[in-house]
Amino acid sequence: METILFLAFTEADGSLGQLALETLSAAQSLATSLTGSKFVAGLIGATVQPAAEAIATSGVVRLLGVSGVEFAQSRYSTDAAAAEAIAKSAGATIILAPAGSRANRTLAGVAQRLGGRIDTHVTALAATDGKPAVTRWYYRQRMEGVLSRSSRPWIVLLESGCAPAYAGPAGSATVEGVLVALPHIRTEVTGLKSPPADQQTIRPDAKLLLVAGAGWTKKQPDGQAHAAEAEQLILGFLQQAQASLGSTKSLVDLSGEGQAVLKFMTHLNQVGQTGSTPRHQKGLATCCHGEEPHTVGWRFINERRAINLNAACSWAQGKADVLYVADAFEVLRKVNALLGATS
Ligand SMILES: Cc1cc2nc3c(=O)[nH]c(=O)nc-3n(C[C@H](O)[C@H](O)[C@H](O)COP(=O)(O)OP(=O)(O)OC[C@H]3O[C@@H](n4cnc5c(N)ncnc54)[C@H](O)[C@@H]3O)c2cc1C
Repeated sequence: METILFLAFTEADGSLGQLALETLSAAQSLATSLTGSKFVAGLIGATVQPAAEAIATSGVVRLLGVSGVEFAQSRYSTDAAAAEAIAKSAGATIILAPAGSRANRTLAGVAQRLGGRIDTHVTALAATDGKPAVTRWYYRQRMEGVLSRSSRPWIVLLESGCAPAYAGPAGSATVEGVLVALPHIRTEVTGLKSPPADQQTIRPDAKLLLVAGAGWTKKQPDGQAHAAEAEQLILGFLQQAQASLGSTKSLVDLSGEGQAVLKFMTHLNQVGQTGSTPRHQKGLATCCHGEEPHTVGWRFINERRAINLNAACSWAQGKADVLYVADAFEVLRKVNALLGATS
């Protein structure tokens, strides 16, 4: 009989984030489809009571918690100790956790401590004939594999956007506190630095991905580069369309070559074989050639359009649904004006 542990780190206010709620609903369906399984939740954070109450009616039979100031912030030693203690207390055989930064950093080590196994970047879970199996992508999202394991405990980290977020009613909850032998704490988080929300260009929840390519910084038909205007057009579009910003490798690499670049662009924006594979409903590539090492990162973009001066660019070779053979500066000027007029 499997004991399925939903394991999550709470937010600063003690609640659960979107990805944790998605993972909870995946754990809940797995528990429902594995007859006779036991469904347990484990919560770690400064405070866990609000999260416990939010998930009290999800079908969990035990709510375990590790809370306190030491567990407020991400730190390998304390996060790993808390996760290990909860897993042992639950007698968990399958541990399902959201693939956020804290779990991604910690749970491989926890698997080692528990003598178990871990699978990361999982995109689906199912039980066939009473046997749980996970789905994940391999070789830069080119091949999909379904696998199951006999080793226990088995830790599974679920990616975002793969399950509906749990939205059951809240209830009263009694959290069983789990004792953790505090490790020697060498790391202290002294503060967080993050860009203001309107300067945050990577928005995983956005419907639209705007990709900017190196063409934005290249000499244009007037013989000049117009990086300053490119910045203004791209940022204006992002702000009005609330789109997420992706980039090609060439554009983010340009700063290393001392060329005029878009200042808000970093390697984190890079989409492709050596970049990310974001999930958005629509994508618009601008001033980007559409070469395979880049477009392989578009695997999960459903509707694809591109704007390029070159009618023979790679987007025209079956990689986009629509290619606008046009000057992206002109198009974005017009689109931004239209968006401004309608907002
Ligand atoms: C091992 C390996 C891994 C790689 N990994 C990645 C990766 O992860 N991600 C990635 O992106 N690349 C990756 N690359 C690089 C990739 O092959 C391409 O070199 C890169 O994507 C090209 O970037 P680009 O399209 O922005 O630039 P370019 O190839 O320079 O294309 C610029 C485009 O802009 C167009 N243009 C210029 N001005 C305008 C205008 N005014 N209006 C409209 N269009 C205009 C031009 O017609 C041109 O098509 C990798 C390469 C290798 C070898």
